[in-house]
Amino acid sequence: MKLDRRLAASVTSLAVLTLLPVTRLRAQAPEDRKVPTQTPIAVESKARSLQPGELVLYSITVPPGGTNVTVAAFERTVRAVRREGDTWVALVGIDLTTKPGTFPTTVTATLPAGKASTTQSLTVVPKQFPTRRLTVNPAMVNPPPAALDRIKRDTERINSVYRSPALEALWSGPFARPVIDTANSRFGSRSVFNNTRSSPHTGADFSSPAGTPIKAPNRGRVRLAEDLYFSGNTVILDHGLGLFSLFAHLSAFKVQEGDTVTTGDIVGLVGATGRVTGPHLHWAVRATGARIDPLSLLAVLGEEETGRD
Ligand SMILES: [Zn+2]
Repeated sequence: MKLDRRLAASVTSLAVLTLLPVTRLRAQAPEDRKVPTQTPIAVESKARSLQPGELVLYSITVPPGGTNVTVAAFERTVRAVRREGDTWVALVGIDLTTKPGTFPTTVTATLPAGKASTTQSLTVVPKQFPTRRLTVNPAMVNPPPAALDRIKRDTERINSVYRSPALEALWSGPFARPVIDTANSRFGSRSVFNNTRSSPHTGADFSSPAGTPIKAPNRGRVRLAEDLYFSGNTVILDHGLGLFSLFAHLSAFKVQEGDTVTTGDIVGLVGATGRVTGPHLHWAVRATGARIDPLSLLAVLGEEETGRD
């Protein structure tokens, strides 16, 4: 089975990650170490960098019989997914607007002998995001009053999807690029549209020609497939446990709300609907509320771990 092979590949790559972590969490702060406690939980982490907008992959090993593994960080709790035996993985996003500093991360598990936890610290270092200047249709910068209600509804609609993720992991195995084309616009850029400052760019833009099929990067449920004011024809995939993919500016939908898709299924076609300067794919990822660069997801859990940009 193709899927089984994928899963096996993922497990193998995770095993490699455990041996070769790009980053390692720092030890506990000295004051936390005054009472030495032997934790039976082993934690490894991997990230492209520990900066705002990056995804951190935790690989957690618990004693046999351990369950309910969670990671609490940035005032959010992420449930881990069992990968193999007593190894679990959890995806923790460092939101785009996180201020540099040191943050506690607590891994908790229910063991046969009771609850156990270990707290480490994660140090977020600063990142300088570039500014990009774009010229677009003036109605996209100063929307006409008649559009304001619609924009408000769109925002509420998107937020209600993000507030109600599937409570089980729908994703499994590695994540695939939705299109093969390179990403030509950096996540986190401070956008200036027609000389007016706008909110930061929260996705990666892929320079695909109009009509290019957009493939689901992993398994998920279609929670939204609608025409929205700024993002045009938009699809949101719920990968479960707080992980979402949003695809914007589509020329056509190939799925509808409620569909379940698997890795590689076509969700729509690249287009130029909404606030754009031309056809491209905008892919945005949410990880338990954190806005992260989709390329950081591909870097830690991608099919080819090249971190290509
Ligand atoms: Zn974009």
